[in-house]
Amino acid sequence: MAKKQTFGDKSSKKSYDVVCPACDQTKQYVKHVKAVKTDTGWKFRSLNVGVCKCNEKEIYA
Ligand SMILES: [Zn+2]
Repeated sequence: MAKKQTFGDKSSKKSYDVVCPACDQTKQYVKHVKAVKTDTGWKFRSLNVGVCKCNEKEIYA
């Protein structure tokens, strides 16, 4: 028990500076417009998505 990991320590860290635990890369937050199909048609939703190595292919596809 040499190191203690703390979660949710947001006061000392910028909320958008997130490092992915899977690839250890800082996530880049981009606005991603997603088309969602509804009963009445298509709806576009703008989302802020954190992009890292794990999901950059599907985001920028
Ligand atoms: Zn990742």
